[in-house]
Amino acid sequence: MKKLLAAALIVCSVFLSTHILNSQNLKAFNNGVSQKVHLSGMVNTFAGNIKHSYDVLNYKLQLNVYDCFKTPFPKSFSAYELITLRVDSVINSIRLNAVNNSLFVDSVRLLNYSLLSISHSSNILSVVLNRYYNPGEIVNIEIYYRHKNIYDSAFHVNNGLVYTDCEHQGARKWFPCWDKPSDKATTDITVKVPSNVLLGSNGLLRDSSKTGDTIYYHWVSRDPMSTYLVTIAGSTDYNLEIRYWPKLSNPLDSIPIRYYPKPGETYANVRDSMNMLVDFYSSRFGEYPFEKIGFASSDNQAIGCMENQTLITMYPGTWVLWGAGHEFSHHWFGDLITCGTWADVWLNEGFATYCEALWYENLLGVNEYKNAINLQAQTYFTGNNGRPIYNPEWIDNEPNNIWTLLYYPLMYSKGSCVLYMLRNVLGDSLFFDVIHSYVTDTNFTFKNAVTDDFTAKINQVTGQDYSWFINQWVKQPNHPIYQNNCNFINLGGGNWRVNLVVRQIQINTPFHKMPVEIKVHFTDSTDTLMTVFNNSNIQLFSFDFNKQPDSLNFDPDNKIILKQGTTTIGITVISDIIPKRFELSQNYPNPFNPATKIKFSIPKTSQVKIVIYDLLGKEIKILVGQQLNPGEYETDFDGSNFPSGVYFYRLTAGSFSAINKMVLLK
Ligand SMILES: [Zn+2]
Repeated sequence: MKKLLAAALIVCSVFLSTHILNSQNLKAFNNGVSQKVHLSGMVNTFAGNIKHSYDVLNYKLQLNVYDCFKTPFPKSFSAYELITLRVDSVINSIRLNAVNNSLFVDSVRLLNYSLLSISHSSNILSVVLNRYYNPGEIVNIEIYYRHKNIYDSAFHVNNGLVYTDCEHQGARKWFPCWDKPSDKATTDITVKVPSNVLLGSNGLLRDSSKTGDTIYYHWVSRDPMSTYLVTIAGSTDYNLEIRYWPKLSNPLDSIPIRYYPKPGETYANVRDSMNMLVDFYSSRFGEYPFEKIGFASSDNQAIGCMENQTLITMYPGTWVLWGAGHEFSHHWFGDLITCGTWADVWLNEGFATYCEALWYENLLGVNEYKNAINLQAQTYFTGNNGRPIYNPEWIDNEPNNIWTLLYYPLMYSKGSCVLYMLRNVLGDSLFFDVIHSYVTDTNFTFKNAVTDDFTAKINQVTGQDYSWFINQWVKQPNHPIYQNNCNFINLGGGNWRVNLVVRQIQINTPFHKMPVEIKVHFTDSTDTLMTVFNNSNIQLFSFDFNKQPDSLNFDPDNKIILKQGTTTIGITVISDIIPKRFELSQNYPNPFNPATKIKFSIPKTSQVKIVIYDLLGKEIKILVGQQLNPGEYETDFDGSNFPSGVYFYRLTAGSFSAINKMVLLK
């Protein structure tokens, strides 16, 4: 918070009197955001705590999906799988995810060895090994299995199009696997298809051998990936265009970009801006980390676009800038660093949605960046289900329904807005330092991160404790609702005091502390912008000026984008001595042109309303409408926009009501 602290000290110079800011707000800064935290210099990798009895190193798949491309396009295929795993704790059996409705397992054996005893029920394939294995030993298990002729929303077949769509429990429907995002493995996938099929998968095409009307595509991934990012996509209709992205680190070396669109799909927009996009993300997040970039069309059976590692599947109609901007950013936030558990999936989706806005900012300017985030904020407000982004129950037991897990208004919209606010709080320089340091940290890259890892990274890079920020916005539900009151007090001698009481009234989430910008406009058409740290509820901020304030904006740039509420201005506190009774005084001057003042007294805290009526009894303006503490107040009525005539003003406060007459004479 060094930047914010500096800003506060600079704005002090505009005050006639700085004692209030010094004693209160500066203390707030020191108590709030500027606490130094003692860090060892190394981020504590919480994701490293996600342990399992074994770690899959490689999935080798040989899939015979030849018939899936032939009439009547069955969804059944036969397959061979070789799983190479490293034992991490003593075991004599392993469990794999394999959905019974989708898969039939014929046999399992140790590589080149004996058949193993298995059971396959409740979507778990249990394999009894031939002996106990110790940590560090490598086990190779061969599985012969078949996919049934069944629609399972993961292995899709449609008139010559075959593709997979796996987030978040789909991989186990087309190959037995330990289907957790925390277990990353390399892949080696060979697919047998008719010779008129173009087929892509993860990694690089090792070879494609054609025999008669059959072709074998052999794809190998150098880099490990979570199982939900493993994919194949093939079609008799695909076109293939290959372009190249010259690496920033070595322009003589380049990464292939493979496009597999269907005929008639307009993908030129994406293709022609792709190198710019790779450049942009690479400069922000570190150079594109994988060996290939790929896009392949899916169809409307998919749940959407999918950021499969090095082969994104594109839903119909998404070959557009935001589609590519979102999915491609997942290659850093989701693929390179994968959420450690499904409770942390906002680290995928909140970040990718925020990257859409960054991409807009880069292409179209800061207003489009703000517009994009504004739309996300509206989506959140409309769809907020009252839950926090982070649900610890999902660490071990994620919901089976993908849209319960990936609830858009939370994971995408609120998640992206949290990053928007984090950038506002840290400032651009620190924010992008945090993001770059996170996404290039070898504790996480080609591995996983959990929410607390990201928090620790913020703290490490800034040297300050921002746990409160992630806790309130990510681990708590809902958002703050402000009901602020502001008064301008004439101190005499041309001096004025602005009293702003910042109050949060929500009961569905704790108080959210935040730095807030406050802009005061003066009658001489000047203004001043101040930043205060609002770290307690019903907090008074007082500012003294040697000129008359005219109006005040609370958070004028809407930096706290996930807030609601109001700031009421224009009621002057004449005295906070508790009056004996309710009273509504005669306005003065009267008659008036065009403005007049109305004094009133409130003996106890009340919901106060002052309304102006015309001669016919029609309400023409609400002057005051808020809760007020006991005191004597004054408010102004400006009749510039109303015709001459007799008007009435009524005060209601609790059960008290009074009405007076006034005359506007132009
Ligand atoms: Zn996404």
